[in-house]
Amino acid sequence: MKIKKIMVIGAGQMGSGIAQVCAQAGYDVFLYDLKPEQIDHGMDKISKNLFRSVQKERMTEAEKSAVLARIHKTIDINDAGGVDIVIEAVVENMEIKRNIFAQLDEITPDHTILASNTSSMPITEIAAATDRPEKVIGMHFMNPVPVMKLVEIIRGLATADEVYKKVEDLTKTIGKVPVEVNDFPGFVSNRILMPMINEAIYTLYEGVATKESIDQVMKLGMNHPMGPLELADFIGLDTCLSAMEILHEGFGDDKYRPCPLLRKYVKAGWVGKKAGRGFYLYE
Ligand code: NAD
Repeated sequence: MKIKKIMVIGAGQMGSGIAQVCAQAGYDVFLYDLKPEQIDHGMDKISKNLFRSVQKERMTEAEKSAVLARIHKTIDINDAGGVDIVIEAVVENMEIKRNIFAQLDEITPDHTILASNTSSMPITEIAAATDRPEKVIGMHFMNPVPVMKLVEIIRGLATADEVYKKVEDLTKTIGKVPVEVNDFPGFVSNRILMPMINEAIYTLYEGVATKESIDQVMKLGMNHPMGPLELADFIGLDTCLSAMEILHEGFGDDKYRPCPLLRKYVKAGWVGKKAGRGFYLYE
């Protein structure tokens, strides 16, 4: 069956972006979250992004309205009963994700594909919460979703070839570039990126340099568009910590131990840009 209707679960940074790109490609999208205010916040963000596209003459006012009209806000997960694929983008917590997948397994028709945007949690473990592990897959979008081209597509142990192909096609249809990856801790992107960010935090923790200097070295010296501490704030320090814990546990190797300073900031609630404070302060 062709994918026509999509549900995105979680209207945070990632979920709102995923809903936007899917609606822009012409899909009907349900945007579900536990908190109505998060959905409103997500819709606001989408509206602002589209408004900028109109200003830059990349889109007409009528197209903007049509995209917004294709996104249906919902706080009822049962709306997943009418969709062909669900893309889950809730907080990086295995118990919450497994609960949602078990619920979706009950609610959705047999053909519905269940995808997770997890940054680094094992797709195989999420799939095991359902009776359809062959239809469970990882769709790891990059932040900010409307801008970044890559989607890592992660095959769980049981993911069917046919499901992989459909998700690969969907990824291309929404204007992204799919890259196939197997299910190992951190996949490819975060196995490489997160240890770099963690090392930058250790560099700060050990007093080697200030946060500004660390970021400047990586920007000017390595040609990175953002410094690693700035990037960690942008990603969310809670998400970074969770990714490091998964690498640490998954490989059983101490080279992945999360920096104590990262833990401290997360405990303080200084989780980065979305909280107004991380390594840097945000208005
Ligand atoms: P976020 O904190 O901005 O948003 C999470 C949303 O999930 C919130 O709106 C919250 O209300 C909602 N939520 C929590 N529990 C829920 C539940 N049980 N049912 C429905 N909604 C629920 O987080 P984010 O940065 O958008 O990350 C979401 C996912 O995307 C995580 O798995 C993360 O690892 C992954 N991811 C994040 C990034 C990034 O750069 N932030 C990049 C790629 C992937």
